[in-house]
Amino acid sequence: MTPAAPLLGAGDPPPVTVLRPAGRSPWLLIADHAGQAVPARLRDLGLPRAELDRHIGWDIGIAGVTARLAERLDACAILQAYSRLVIDCNRPLDAPGSSAAISDGTMVPGNADLDARQRRQRVEEIFAPYHARIEAELDRRAAADRPTLLVAMHSFTPSMDGRARPWHAGVLYQRDARLAHALLAALRAEGGLEVGDNEPYSVSDATDYAIPVHGERRGLAHVELEIRQDLIEGADGQDAWAERLARLLGRLQPDFITTP
Ligand SMILES: [Zn+2]
Repeated sequence: MTPAAPLLGAGDPPPVTVLRPAGRSPWLLIADHAGQAVPARLRDLGLPRAELDRHIGWDIGIAGVTARLAERLDACAILQAYSRLVIDCNRPLDAPGSSAAISDGTMVPGNADLDARQRRQRVEEIFAPYHARIEAELDRRAAADRPTLLVAMHSFTPSMDGRARPWHAGVLYQRDARLAHALLAALRAEGGLEVGDNEPYSVSDATDYAIPVHGERRGLAHVELEIRQDLIEGADGQDAWAERLARLLGRLQPDFITTP
């Protein structure tokens, strides 16, 4: 049997982008849903481009916030380039929705009847290298005795299933709320912000990958942060949130770093 052609071709972006790889901050930013690319071979998954542009395709605005925050903190940031509809890099591989056949009412033709080989290509060429790059960064820091504070950057749609969501942002966690609750208190102290405590989502082993695997298993202080998309659609909002987060994370940092 001849080996199958790779999924990613010459014109497709690499799955992983690393910003400020030599950044000196203990903060490590990851963005599982930063991008909305679809490998050319998958022909936009059979969707009109407008569907890939909405929240089902990616976390609108979060790449811009993450890049700006990395800059302000001098922090390394690892971003994933492909649409969550190709493969969701924050879902366990056996979870429903790993390559969703329907998302927020939209049928995804390119995900109907995926066979094992097609699935495996998405795992091997997108999911695996992205998480391997995060693992490598965490290993490198551990070997150098460098502390890491992990922030998983996400954004959420302002309304879902016809219901408006009141929160400006939310902190998400599962087994370890240390950093999440500290950031929650800091965000609420800003005034004028509605901040969700495990809202609009929460982290679980069944629905999440990055925090359970990279944060909890390694015992790193961590938080999954969600920002409402209408607040960070444009450069001004992205700047404002990066400024705010850099200030608050900088203030929290000493409480989570034990210097020998
Ligand atoms: Zn997300």
